[in-house]
Amino acid sequence: MVKGAIITIGDELLSGLVLDSNALFLEELLLRCGIDPVVKFTVKDEAHQIKKALSFASQISQIILLSGGLGPTEDDVTREAVAEFCGVSLNLDEKAWEIIKSRLEERRVFIRDSHKKQALIPEGAISFANPIGTAWGFAIKRNKNWIIALPGVPKELILMGEEKVLPLLKKTHPKASSLMVKVLKTFGLKESDVNHALYDMQKKNPGKIGLMIKDYVEVHIKLTASDNEIENLEKEVKDKLGNFVFGENNETLESVAGKLLKEKGLSISTAESCTGGMLAHTITNVPDSSKYFVEGLVTYTEEAKRKELSVPEEVLKRFGAVSSECAFYMVKGLVEKTRTDIGISITGVAGPTGGTKEKPVGLVYIGYAFPTGIEVKKYYFSSDRLGVKTMAVKSALDTVRRYLLGLKI
Ligand code: ATP
Repeated sequence: MVKGAIITIGDELLSGLVLDSNALFLEELLLRCGIDPVVKFTVKDEAHQIKKALSFASQISQIILLSGGLGPTEDDVTREAVAEFCGVSLNLDEKAWEIIKSRLEERRVFIRDSHKKQALIPEGAISFANPIGTAWGFAIKRNKNWIIALPGVPKELILMGEEKVLPLLKKTHPKASSLMVKVLKTFGLKESDVNHALYDMQKKNPGKIGLMIKDYVEVHIKLTASDNEIENLEKEVKDKLGNFVFGENNETLESVAGKLLKEKGLSISTAESCTGGMLAHTITNVPDSSKYFVEGLVTYTEEAKRKELSVPEEVLKRFGAVSSECAFYMVKGLVEKTRTDIGISITGVAGPTGGTKEKPVGLVYIGYAFPTGIEVKKYYFSSDRLGVKTMAVKSALDTVRRYLLGLKI
């Protein structure tokens, strides 16, 4: 199997400031091209460190992917290090420079001489245009090695990886049996449940099925296998986990729920207490959510719940703001006010303070007003403050998804 190496470059990666997510993407990219990632380095923005890493990587791998250090500043030295390592000069890519200049002008950035650096490409390299930024990438062949440099900004790296590196590697290594990567996302199951359900599959397919917890509660299943195999694995996972699988790859609970709302032509509104607007924020992270999201109220205090949602005074007095009754009246008041097809209310104790024996931290009531009636669900989320808020928001979105799919909620 062709071997690959990854070198991520940047002082910030070694000072605990930035999580090295680029390496994960680059590893996956190599696997998708049928290239076996055998080594990964993280080095500082120092030319001699980059050259040392290149020297080692080139002895044990054929493809070397680099991320970062292609910016305009003094400390961005990746292109210089690669050129020196390959024993070639750096040449100005005139076309790239014209595009970079116009991008900088559009952004009203004062153009300095140092910006020209971003259009310098090692002699003999293929230049990779950056579709959204100003750091150009490149790929250069040195003896049996391909050295490929991409910008550090994750969005730019991912775009250029998909658009430039993937096609290049498929062309240079057509015989490599490429692997596909697919992520199936579940909500509502614990990692141990998923593990239990997929245990036999994992044993039969070593290294092809990985589990990970994302955003506190989602369990993602990462499948890495050949084209044919992945289809069968996906089918088997879905057979075992059913509609706990809510989406795949880039899909999110909010994008899946949003798509269903749009398809069915239904509108939605929210009234939030302990989540402080997080549900509305999450729903509106989806482009085009204005097609279904109408209004989001943050009614944090009892007074706000009374004033904005007409929650009766006696309900608040008798049951308190964190109660099934309050969630019921919140969502009832919400849909009466907004006239949307669906309403969601959330009230609970996010913690870490404010919990009592009767109403502990993590107790959350979510009210759902669907065209078929109002229902309130009670949840206990065991987590920190952000975790309780996140779990409440995800539970609400998943319940909407389930309702719209005609599943048990
Ligand atoms: P630009 O000129 O666009 O900044 P660059 O190639 O110089 O491109 P860097 O300056 O190295 O990129 O990094 C830019 C930002 O991208 C960093 O501040 C950091 O937040 C992020 N970044 C860099 N490397 C990584 C990485 N390996 N993983 C995740 N984020 C990264």
